[in-house]
Amino acid sequence: MKNIPIETIGNLRSKVKGRIVLPGDPGFDEIRKIWNAMIDRRPAVIVQCSEADDVPHAISFARENGLVISIRGGGHNIAGNALCDDCLMIDFSNMKNVCVDAAKRLAYVEPGATLADFDAAVQEHGLATPVGINSTTGISGLTLGGGFGWLTRKYGLTIDNLISAEMITANGRKLRASENENGDLFWAIRGGGGNFGVVTQYEFKLHPVGPEILAGLLVFPLEQAKQVLTQYRESIESTPEDLNVWVVLRQAPPLPFLPKDVHGKEVVVFAIFYAGNVAQGKKLIESLRHFGDPHGEQIGAMPYAQWEKAFDPLLTPGARNYWKSHNLTALNDGALDTIIEYAGKLPSPQCEIFIALLAGAANRVPADSMAYAHRDAKFVLNVHGRWDQAADDERCIAWAREFFKASAPYASGSVYVNFMTQDEADRIAAAYGSNYDRLVQIKKKYDPENVFHLNQNIKP
Ligand SMILES: Cc1cc2nc3c(=O)[nH]c(=O)nc-3n(C[C@H](O)[C@H](O)[C@H](O)COP(=O)(O)OP(=O)(O)OC[C@H]3O[C@@H](n4cnc5c(N)ncnc54)[C@H](O)[C@@H]3O)c2cc1C
Repeated sequence: MKNIPIETIGNLRSKVKGRIVLPGDPGFDEIRKIWNAMIDRRPAVIVQCSEADDVPHAISFARENGLVISIRGGGHNIAGNALCDDCLMIDFSNMKNVCVDAAKRLAYVEPGATLADFDAAVQEHGLATPVGINSTTGISGLTLGGGFGWLTRKYGLTIDNLISAEMITANGRKLRASENENGDLFWAIRGGGGNFGVVTQYEFKLHPVGPEILAGLLVFPLEQAKQVLTQYRESIESTPEDLNVWVVLRQAPPLPFLPKDVHGKEVVVFAIFYAGNVAQGKKLIESLRHFGDPHGEQIGAMPYAQWEKAFDPLLTPGARNYWKSHNLTALNDGALDTIIEYAGKLPSPQCEIFIALLAGAANRVPADSMAYAHRDAKFVLNVHGRWDQAADDERCIAWAREFFKASAPYASGSVYVNFMTQDEADRIAAAYGSNYDRLVQIKKKYDPENVFHLNQNIKP
């Protein structure tokens, strides 16, 4: 354990408006918890910022005392880089404000806001921008890696809607990054993760959405998976981008609209979202029901912010999680067969395979226009290993790795940086793709000493 003199801590305390939390202090164990229970680490110092001006003090304190810096937005990242042993953790869980300028359709968001905080504020004005599908995720990590969700087919990635960011760099300088100010930095943070500095505010463009949308679940038996998924694949080209359907293969949870004897059986779930007029959406999704003989469904009009929370009960913090992920440009037969084979041997009731559909606006942005390079990715295949007991680690991780390997021949070779686990350093070049060399140059300019290296690291 790093030994920091008490007067040195006192000096930091006198400068920072937020709270300094040390091991043994009340709340220490609660604050250091992150979503993935596989990661359990004890920082030497936690700076719970209450304003942007706290950040330069935290950075200089860490550098003067030889402490590595970790940054916690929403604490959701599967790799667990928000947390490290003996480090200084910059924690934003007390900075969650979301300010909306409804007339200009802009939102100003603090770095600790979750997607739930964001959606609640913007939906008061019937506005939204694409974010992820689990409302407890942090806006920070999601945005810096790219960000996609129900609105992505129509409005692109989260970063395609980022207008500017306020940042603190490794030398403590406050900067604004936008198309017109520090354009290279703005290019890099849109997909380059937390490599370039600490973001203290995001400015997003908003779009009219809802508040009422059409959404829900349609559940088929796994035995019908090939016919259902083949028709799904073929339908995508002709469906409007207002419609997004993600596929989840898992054991059926005890959902009230499913017959009891289906609970625990392997199923194919369509998670359906339609951003346009509800009546039109109802007509449009009718054909999906005929892809097979469904076990059941629950689809209806609901507030957009409610649908954004629909998967939260299946994705609560505290479980053990291990992910493997591929980007896909197409869902060919080999991919479908492999997906179906491994959905037939799920190692735990919580493990799942999901296919996120991106096809649309995100694919029309040039690959070199910002750090996120994978503009050809139409689907993201995520193998979500999830279980409760450490004794199941080996078995569940082995399933995820085997499936990942078996499906690799059908994937594009690239990967979404936000879905990478901590043991995937060998995939960093694949994650940044053709933009990697430029990212290295920008890293050299803004963080030559690699102060911010607890991330999928771009080495200067
Ligand atoms: C259950 C679940 C569902 C998900 N669903 C989706 C989805 O639908 N779509 C999608 O795109 N992604 C999704 N993700 C992935 C998610 O985008 C990433 O896990 C993301 O990193 C989470 O952000 P966070 O702020 O919560 O994470 P944290 O763990 O707090 O942060 C992750 C990393 O981001 C960097 N960082 C965080 N805050 C800052 C900051 N203020 N300044 C600079 N760097 C910072 C740091 O390097 C940190 O290690 C999901 C994740 C989970 C666990």
